[in-house]
Amino acid sequence: MATLSLSRLDKNYGSFHAVKGIDLDVADGEFVALVGPSGCGKSTTLRMIAGLEDITSGDIRIGDRVVNDLPPRDRNISMVFQSYALYPHMTVGENMGFTLKIAGRGKAEIAEAVAKAARVLEIEALLDRRPAQLSGGQRQRVAMGRAIVRDPDVFLFDEPLSNLDAKLRGQMRTEIKELHARLESTIVYVTHDQVEAMTLADRIVIMKDGRIEQVGSPDEVFNRPATQFVAGFIGSPPMNMADARVVGGNLRLSDEAELPLPPGVAAQDGQNVVLGLRPDDIYPQGHGIHTEGGDAVEPRDLTVKLSEPLGNETLLFVDFGGKGWTARMLNPRIVKRGEVLGFHMDLSRAHLFDAETGRSLR
Ligand code: ATP
Repeated sequence: MATLSLSRLDKNYGSFHAVKGIDLDVADGEFVALVGPSGCGKSTTLRMIAGLEDITSGDIRIGDRVVNDLPPRDRNISMVFQSYALYPHMTVGENMGFTLKIAGRGKAEIAEAVAKAARVLEIEALLDRRPAQLSGGQRQRVAMGRAIVRDPDVFLFDEPLSNLDAKLRGQMRTEIKELHARLESTIVYVTHDQVEAMTLADRIVIMKDGRIEQVGSPDEVFNRPATQFVAGFIGSPPMNMADARVVGGNLRLSDEAELPLPPGVAAQDGQNVVLGLRPDDIYPQGHGIHTEGGDAVEPRDLTVKLSEPLGNETLLFVDFGGKGWTARMLNPRIVKRGEVLGFHMDLSRAHLFDAETGRSLR
């Protein structure tokens, strides 16, 4: 295995600037997920690492080699695609052994590598089948098997689970996590699914418009988002965001609604800001996810517009300060539309962003 390092990595497609000077160091054995909305440049970045796309400028290092000008086959990476890209006329075993075969390895060596990978992925019984005779999940496993037979320095995954249904996606996520733990491999994993990124990765890279917004552990990007964009992208249901102005030490959301300034934020009087509060941090009295914490606000009576029971919790939709908020209620009971409940807003857990720059003021 090896480290991977990107420095000042840039990509232009004609006059379109798709990737804008990315710096990223991935440690040996680390699992890094690239996330971001469609078109932010994640796949382009991955394809440049793989050598499937020329770079416009910058450097890519794998281990201590600069690989900018090496063709894909000489980079010692393995890539798993969303489409699986299996050869339909070959058996599973032949598909898995194919890259070793074209690299000129001997039959016995290939058979041994394929058998070992098939054991790891528990697909030994499928080795003689053709791709058409496999389920979506099995095909995905074969695509991973083909990647691991080569024992590469770095694995690259491009949205590998997006063609699977929700249940299978959950299962495969667990398998990829176990595989990483077993192989201790260096992995770069592209997804637009933040849950996948949060559950799999050691560190998450959040991209927007060809740039990196933040790099951090799942805990960091969730609890200490550097920007409003990151705060809104990570977390489900998404963080509530409300425009406000700092007036006399308070946050004015509207003419009728004010809240105290969250503790520990650096905001100036008169500054336009955005208050961010996760659904977890607005809840009816006695039904919160966090039992302790410096809740500075007396409960406010708010009218429930809609409730969505989800079994072990209920999402409640309320209006406050001229905008709609999503609240999360644990230990649910039946809540009717129009019911008025006292809601806590735990401002000790709130986020505040500069309205112009979007940067966190924490
Ligand atoms: P998605 O989640 O939709 O796959 P992404 O973040 O992976 O998106 P990329 O595929 O990296 O995005 O594309 C980044 C930007 O570059 C997009 O605006 C895309 O339209 C553009 N782009 C990608 N490939 C080309 C190309 N061959 N020619 C011109 N523009 C391209």
